[in-house]
Amino acid sequence: MSERNRTVPRMGMVGGGQLSRMTHQAGIALGIDFSVLAADPRDSAARVCGDVVLGDDRGLDDVLAFAKACDVVTFDHEHVPEPVLRAVEEAGGLLRPGRRALRFAQDKLVMRTRMAELGAPSPAWRAVSAPEHVDAFADEHGWPIVLKAARGGYDGKGVWIADGPEEAAVIVARAAAEGVPLLAEEKVGFRRELAVQVARSPHGQVAVYPVVETLQRDGICHEVIAPAPGLDEEKATRAQQAAIEIAHALDVTGVLAVEMFETAEGVLVNELAMRPHNSGHWTIDGAVTSQFEQHLRAVANLPLGAPGTVAPYTVMANVLGGADPDVYGRYLHVMAKDPGVKVHMYGKDVRPGRKIGHVTVTGDDHRDLLARARDAADYLRGDDQ
Ligand code: ADP
Repeated sequence: MSERNRTVPRMGMVGGGQLSRMTHQAGIALGIDFSVLAADPRDSAARVCGDVVLGDDRGLDDVLAFAKACDVVTFDHEHVPEPVLRAVEEAGGLLRPGRRALRFAQDKLVMRTRMAELGAPSPAWRAVSAPEHVDAFADEHGWPIVLKAARGGYDGKGVWIADGPEEAAVIVARAAAEGVPLLAEEKVGFRRELAVQVARSPHGQVAVYPVVETLQRDGICHEVIAPAPGLDEEKATRAQQAAIEIAHALDVTGVLAVEMFETAEGVLVNELAMRPHNSGHWTIDGAVTSQFEQHLRAVANLPLGAPGTVAPYTVMANVLGGADPDVYGRYLHVMAKDPGVKVHMYGKDVRPGRKIGHVTVTGDDHRDLLARARDAADYLRGDDQ
């Protein structure tokens, strides 16, 4: 516990990425003692956090020792293996979210099975371990079929579209060789992709954010428009209700992000994340309480903050790394051109395609905001100069 103030909980976040960095930022305002377990001193949060523990953020010894030094532990990724989480809980460590809840964000097969039990609207799916299984599934649902690694994927890595049996057989063989369980899903002809953030405290209080539209390219979220323009009220309410029900049913503590597809009939659950999420970065500038502050409040079992918006629309665009690593050299132009743009950089080494920051703009006209946010993010990436 902190020497400085023993009544303030020592909050530990496992993983040193940008989610940890931005949660730390919220922790500063709340006066919460925040430690981070980071694998590398150059990790995004490790560069700025006052209390960094360097170690293996997925390994038993380091996660266990870290948890013992903290009052409560939370996560910036879902890659800590289940046996490690179990050992920490058995040793008396307080994990929020806990091991049982985290399983549903770690394994898409476990998640899909639970969503079916809950009656949450979902794409048709099936566990597959042989080409015949995929072919049988495709006979019912038609090609193309989406194949997904049950574990370990992110940003579309671990998601493949198979147009026919030959392609599917190659993916199944590769997954089998790597020992990765697979599931097949119908390829949903969605209108667009949506996401909902809901925070839940151990007390059972929930706060739900407006439904947002996420714009993906190559499996990566590029922009988020909050709230989703033109979404009919009934669908929006159904999506928020589904997120709240899932948070309660899975006993989530902290922020839960539910990624969804909007179809002509309604909304389908695609994916769950039990941590602050890229689709919620807009809340830093666009909501009364940011998702990072909300996550901390929930994990500390404090009353939750208001999730309402501070402007009719907020648009967030991710800044991806380009060929030229001197991003700071491009601030001058971006800031001079559009003083309304808020720039958030993560202090990460620049690699092409890597998420290194985001920009946000708030205002009345979502089309104009999207154009401005894209313009700033493209310029910061810097490829076309
Ligand atoms: P990850 O865990 O890598 O983010 P997701 O399951 O979210 O993987 O899938 C990544 C992207 O692939 C989605 O954002 C969506 O664009 C597309 N996708 C995933 N599942 C389906 C599906 N059943 N039908 C159509 N597109 C899908």
